Amino acid sequence: MEKPRHQMEVEAPRRRRYRFNAKKLGVTLISFGCMAALIGLAVSHFASWPASAYAGKTASPQNGADVLSGRCIVIDAGHGGFDPGAIGASGLREDELNLKVAKLLKAAFEERDAEVIMTRSTDDAIADTKDEDMAERRRIIEQSGSDIVISIHMNSHTDPSVSGPLVLFMPGSENGKRLAEDIMDSLNDALNADGRARSNSLYILMSGSQPCVLVECGYISNALEEANLAREEYRKIIAGAICEGTERYFGGQRSGD
Ligand SMILES: [Zn+2]
Repeated sequence: MEKPRHQMEVEAPRRRRYRFNAKKLGVTLISFGCMAALIGLAVSHFASWPASAYAGKTASPQNGADVLSGRCIVIDAGHGGFDPGAIGASGLREDELNLKVAKLLKAAFEERDAEVIMTRSTDDAIADTKDEDMAERRRIIEQSGSDIVISIHMNSHTDPSVSGPLVLFMPGSENGKRLAEDIMDSLNDALNADGRARSNSLYILMSGSQPCVLVECGYISNALEEANLAREEYRKIIAGAICEGTERYFGGQRSGD
């Protein structure tokens, strides 16, 4: 009983395999036609996308274009002129690095349609004495009506091995803390660091009613970090990370949650 059945199973398909079947050929051709039409549609659809639709994985505006649009941000480049701030291991001036990062950050924000007010845009201080200079920064912050304030600085330590970014906020400011933590998270991600945002009663942080943070981009007392901060590409990474953290703050998203 088994043998004939086995033979039938083997022979039957063999005969079918070589038989011309017009109906099947037709169905196959129609299927290929439909597939080709679908691929054509998909290709024309993707080709018509604006280039910015692909920008999601770069530093170009994407989600942030919406959350930062119309926001007003004060960027305060610390020190300047007679007040160089910290001096780096090989002699770099903090005030010059602060302004360079501040300008990159300004460009990143403006690319996302935010309005930026700079406390200073040149190498000079904004008054003749330190006290007047700080009072003038406070006046700009108070009168700006901005949504947030970001002050840019470089850190320094007597121990040259200390390194890494740090973000400070005013004690008791919930939104300041949130902004500081969002920027800290982005900087940690971008620089593979593990800094923790801290509160501090610095004059500039206490200067307005809006959330204000002070970003210490790195330690120029550390030779390696100073060399990094001297590079435009490194400063761009820092500005990009500060911008990204700010986007996250306004978008209400928390990376650590
Ligand atoms: Zn400083």
